[in-house]
Amino acid sequence: MDFTFADSLIDYRDRIKDFVDNKVDGFSIMIEEEDCIPPEVLCDAKSLGLFGLSIPSDYGGIGTNMVGKCLIFEQLGRTNNGFTTLIGAHNGVGTVGLVELGNEEQKRRLLPSMATGEKIGAFALSEPESGSAAVTIKTQARRIGDRYVLNGVKSNVTNGPEASVITILAVTDESRGSKGITAFLVEKGAKGLRLGSIDRKMGLRGSHSCSLILEDCEVPTENVLGKEGDGYVNSLRVLTNGRVGLAARNLGSMQKLLELAVKHTTTRYQAGSPISRFQAVQHLIADIGVDVETTRSLTYLTAWMVDQGLKVAKESAMVKYYASEAYCRVADKTMQIFGGLGYLKDAPIERFYRDARIARIAEGTSEIQKNIIAEQLFKEFGAKRATAPTG
Ligand SMILES: Cc1cc2nc3c(=O)[nH]c(=O)nc-3n(C[C@H](O)[C@H](O)[C@H](O)COP(=O)(O)OP(=O)(O)OC[C@H]3O[C@@H](n4cnc5c(N)ncnc54)[C@H](O)[C@@H]3O)c2cc1C
Repeated sequence: MDFTFADSLIDYRDRIKDFVDNKVDGFSIMIEEEDCIPPEVLCDAKSLGLFGLSIPSDYGGIGTNMVGKCLIFEQLGRTNNGFTTLIGAHNGVGTVGLVELGNEEQKRRLLPSMATGEKIGAFALSEPESGSAAVTIKTQARRIGDRYVLNGVKSNVTNGPEASVITILAVTDESRGSKGITAFLVEKGAKGLRLGSIDRKMGLRGSHSCSLILEDCEVPTENVLGKEGDGYVNSLRVLTNGRVGLAARNLGSMQKLLELAVKHTTTRYQAGSPISRFQAVQHLIADIGVDVETTRSLTYLTAWMVDQGLKVAKESAMVKYYASEAYCRVADKTMQIFGGLGYLKDAPIERFYRDARIARIAEGTSEIQKNIIAEQLFKEFGAKRATAPTG
């Protein structure tokens, strides 16, 4: 393993950190209150190339490898997770499928405007009755001549309200189970595609998710992504590698919380001494530090494995599980260190505390990650799996 980074990557990482700490953070309260990312911030994010992290330079993007992407995601995690989610979902499930499975015509047509952020990407697998058991989706796609006609409802689609290109999973052959699901690139304005209600969420202000209603939605055959029937398996692959990126975003948030916590312990005095003198407080800092560094090691190891083309089913589930649980622990402990001040909206702690909670749920709950880890471990040791199917 070699974690020496090219100077250009270090320079880019530092520019993103500067943008996050000195620009986005300045709008934090506004983002929270107005549930919207200011156009000025989006404009800078576009100029910095943040919408093209996963898109190769041939199509106008920056096209970093997974380790590079994690370095950038880590910086983005330092600020409002709503902003991070908008960029992260676009660079993850919103574009990776198209980059890896799209044909040349699809890539030439769609990727350049996605790389600049002119077109935002989204991914719609979940449905009202199908979350963890994604293989049970009900949305149907029927081929009629040179098009497919899609009917169904998708739920919680991140970037749904803003998206111009949505990868939608639908059943093309009910008799074939997971091999009867196909991915479609559905473009904004497609006949029969309608935005449903926008989710009202606990956190992630500035990131919007919504349901999508497909009523005889017409999708031309040239917008099938990959082969018919391969949509589910391909989605699992994209989701598997993408879990590393989620962990990197959580890592950045934890690192920021650690910095805030340490600073607070030296400036907050009780009974005439800084609270950093109290061993109970020191132990909270130590626990946070262990979670940060363990997440960091697991994240970059798994990212490196992805870049080597190694299989990471077990490792990516481990890092997603560990990072999301650790993020919640770290947010909780930081709030304890801040005392009453942490609970108030004046400090960013309560925002991180709310934002952290989704990490254990979205893109596969902690329980599903543990199912995958156990499945892989049983396989590794040639034993029969004792857990229920992951769906
Ligand atoms: C803010 C937000 C953004 C989202 N963005 C997207 C998106 O962009 N695209 C998209 O397709 N989806 C998206 N989702 C949906 C998300 O992926 C699902 O919420 C998640 O997969 C969990 O599914 P569920 O909510 O239906 O929970 P359920 O599947 O109903 O699970 C409920 C509980 O049962 C447990 N459980 C379920 N099955 C098992 C099992 N086999 N073994 C053990 N425990 C189990 C779960 O761990 C959980 O604790 C988003 C959700 C939210 C809240």
